[in-house]
Amino acid sequence: MPTNTPWPPRYPSDFVPNEDSEYWDKELETMPPEQRDPIILEKLRSQIAYAHRNSGFYQDFYQDVSVDPSNIRSFEELAQLPILTKEDIRQEQENHPPYGRFLCIPEEQVFRVHGTSGTTGRPTVFGIGGDDWSRIAEAHARILWSAGLRPRDTVMVASVFSLYVGSWGALVGAERLGAACFPFGSGAPGQTERAAEWAAMLKPTALYATPSYAMYLAEVAKSMGLDPRKDFDFRFMFFSGEPGASVPATRKKIEETYDCYIVDMGSMAEMTPWMSNSGCRHLDQGMHLWLDLVYTEMVDPQSHIPIPLGSEGVPVYTHLERTSQPMIRYWSGDVARWDMVDCPCGRTYPTLPLGIYGRTDDMIIVRGQNIFPSRIEDILRSMKEFGGEFRLVLERDPGQMDRLTIQTEVEASSYASREHDPAALEPLREQIAGEIRRAIGVGVAVELKPPGEFERTQFKARRIIDLRT
Ligand SMILES: [Zn+2]
Repeated sequence: MPTNTPWPPRYPSDFVPNEDSEYWDKELETMPPEQRDPIILEKLRSQIAYAHRNSGFYQDFYQDVSVDPSNIRSFEELAQLPILTKEDIRQEQENHPPYGRFLCIPEEQVFRVHGTSGTTGRPTVFGIGGDDWSRIAEAHARILWSAGLRPRDTVMVASVFSLYVGSWGALVGAERLGAACFPFGSGAPGQTERAAEWAAMLKPTALYATPSYAMYLAEVAKSMGLDPRKDFDFRFMFFSGEPGASVPATRKKIEETYDCYIVDMGSMAEMTPWMSNSGCRHLDQGMHLWLDLVYTEMVDPQSHIPIPLGSEGVPVYTHLERTSQPMIRYWSGDVARWDMVDCPCGRTYPTLPLGIYGRTDDMIIVRGQNIFPSRIEDILRSMKEFGGEFRLVLERDPGQMDRLTIQTEVEASSYASREHDPAALEPLREQIAGEIRRAIGVGVAVELKPPGEFERTQFKARRIIDLRT
């Protein structure tokens, strides 16, 4: 095991691969995983020892652990450390404002301050040192290279420039790579019309946004008489913040609308470089886990024990090169399946083949199966007969098994056929029940409803009606 590797790593600030090279760091990205593990482990050991030495929080947090935090020697030992939650961060920052005792550098060396807005509870603050910021740029440049970004490209960043670190992370990575950056932003009144005008004029070749914003931009452009395929020149789009970029129906729609390809990205703001989960230009859907930049364990949602490849669990992230505010074993609350896939890019990282498709808070358990409403939604939205809203009703008769009924609206013209023939929709009902049963592994009842049956809301819709208790 290499023990003399300098930590934190220093990267030459002017390196850029050859234009036609597939990789930023071919050796590291394509080596057999068992050869990369010791490199990762050495970074983990240094990172955790550093955090333990410099952070009063981790000294308290690791008081009773059975392993030596200053000398973590295996992934098994790492798994003995407690998991850190968002609530732990909130609590610590409330007790020791503003950063909590997470900050391992003098406060005057903080270079960027970012955070979460705190729509639910106290906001959380991230203090990022200058050296860390340049390592974040390096990591994102390396990953954006795999997405197909090249110095000749122009990247339009069409997400809000605020405390939200996503936009800045995309910007700094593209800058480091040497692409032209166009930090357009979003959120101001009339800004989407201007985005369409500018995109038609400047012809940026890459877009960073959310999938739903990309769809909205296309709508607005069309209403202005622009054709997103002809008047824009987007070669590819990279997205974070929503699961849509790995949802086949959404993905296909955006790719066809713009005649581009899509790369799904993103772990969590706290874990920036958040691109450490990222697809590449070859991957149809899903994200590679760039484990030598941020180490990711997949754990069981209940027991928190690491799970093997091929199974479904919750990503738990650990920084590997963060000196300012390191997060060690940070609980994401997301749900994904991980596996090894043969990607044409040749990278040897494990992959989340379906991206991140759920949150543990949204998960419902029916007859022992974990079910995510987002999977059911994906199936419904891919059908042209879908009327736009649905509800999941869970019931249990005394002594009986759970019953899941899907009530789904049917689009107006399809629903109208029922007036002439009451059985006209029966094949559709059977088709929906069959597809959902295949996807979630549990038999369901399906009830078809007229369009407009369910209330629309701008906020997160309450689609689960649990009558089991
Ligand atoms: Zn790949």
